[in-house]
Parts: sequence; structure tokens; C-alpha cells
Amino acid sequence: MMREEIVFGPIHSRRLGSSLGINVLPERGKLCNFDCIYCECGWNRDGRSDKHLPSAADLRSALEAKLSGCRAAGVGIDSITFSGDGEPTLNPDFPEMVDITLELRDRYYPNAVVSVLSNATKVYKDAVFGALRKVDNPILKIDAPTTDLARIINRPAPGYRVEDVVEALKRFDGDFVLQTMFLRCEGFDSSSPDVLQGWMDIVRILRPREVMVYTIDRETPQKDLVRFTPEEMRSLVRPLVEEGFAIQVRG
Ligand code: SF4
Repeated sequence: MMREEIVFGPIHSRRLGSSLGINVLPERGKLCNFDCIYCECGWNRDGRSDKHLPSAADLRSALEAKLSGCRAAGVGIDSITFSGDGEPTLNPDFPEMVDITLELRDRYYPNAVVSVLSNATKVYKDAVFGALRKVDNPILKIDAPTTDLARIINRPAPGYRVEDVVEALKRFDGDFVLQTMFLRCEGFDSSSPDVLQGWMDIVRILRPREVMVYTIDRETPQKDLVRFTPEEMRSLVRPLVEEGFAIQVRG
């Protein structure tokens, strides 16, 4: 599902309450250095028509208009999430955009929680890391424990190595949320020992304060994907729960 505005919503969700979304990627395109087989925005090749990235100034005016309008209308906002058509940290203004969002949140809705959904590939950059440290919830993705397995499910741009992402994520000292997609397809199965044990080892190394495990629930670009039931996912992550990790399963 493509987002056509820099700031969209608020939409109501059971988990987040009244929630605003921020899309810092092209309005009519997708920009990501992954091309996940389950991406809700479709394949990268189908989202290349618009390459215009919004600037920090664009975000400031759109977000200020939305927040002041909502406040004037008495609309509550519980959360603000960077979750657009692609990878938000690819926007060169991303660090400044985080500062603007936090400043406007403090001014208009000081109790709203700011989250960023990211594939974690740019955490090695100090400015991106610093920005992610400032938000309430940096929600960072690792789906596959090896680079070869990531090539099947995430189809990253050349140069990606899972080891580099794990190394960069160590800088959080556990103060982040790890997000992991569970699915099955030709060549990849989140429940197989090579995937599951390797992923669990990464969780044990990084010790994230929370782990979100989820599965597909919308139409996906690759068609042979099989979802897991919540019961299956709960049973697969049980060893980590028993070790004391906080794991949220969403199915
Ligand atoms: S990282 Fe996110 S935006 Fe990028 S391809 Fe994967 S699911 Fe889509």
C-alpha cells in the first residue's frame, strides 16, 4: 500500500491507539535498499516513477499543519511513526526530520510516542544512530541470520552483510526493539533450524529490550509466501521467552 502524503492519518489501531504516520520517501514511489519478498509497498522496480524526496522543511510544514489541525479539532494522537514507502534512513534529512518531529511532538502532543521502522542498514552511520537513539521506539529489522538467507527474503542491495548490521546494532546496548518477519517460502523457512537458531543467537548477542515477531497479513509481491499462526510463532520463540526476553507475537 503506497502512501501519498508526507504525514498521513491519524488512523486508529488497537496497538498504537490514534496513530499518525510519516512517509519521508517519494510520494508516488518506493525507495529502499532492501526489496523484501513480503513488502507491502510492492517490488522496488514498480515504484520508481517518483524519485522526489521530501525535505526536512517539507516535513516541518506538513507535520505542523497536521498536529495543529488535530489539536484545534480536539483529535487525540497517541503515536507518530516513521513508516513510509521504503527505508526512512535513506532520506539524507532523516536526522533533522527526527529532531523536527520530536520538537513538534513536544509542543503539540507531548504524550505521543515517536517510533521509527527501519531495516537497520544505516545504523552504522553516526548521524542515523544518533537520531534513532532519540526516538522512543527504534524498531529495527533482522529477518535472516545470514547474508545468504537475507538474499532470499530481503533481497538487499549489494554490499549488505548481516554481520555488519549486528555489529552496528550492538551500539544500542539492547535499548531498541528488534522486529522479525516469520514466513515460509521456497528456500526460506523461519522455523527451520538454520534460520531459527541463527536468529536466536543474534537475539542473545544483541539483547533487545523487546522483540516483535510478526507474519504476513496483506498481499505480498512474491506469491508463494506462507504465514505462521500466532500459536506456531509463540511456540518457536518459547526458548527465548524462557530466557527472559520480552517477545511480542503478532499474527
Ligand atoms: S525493508 Fe521495509 S520498505 Fe524495504 S523492502 Fe523491506 S519491507 Fe519494504
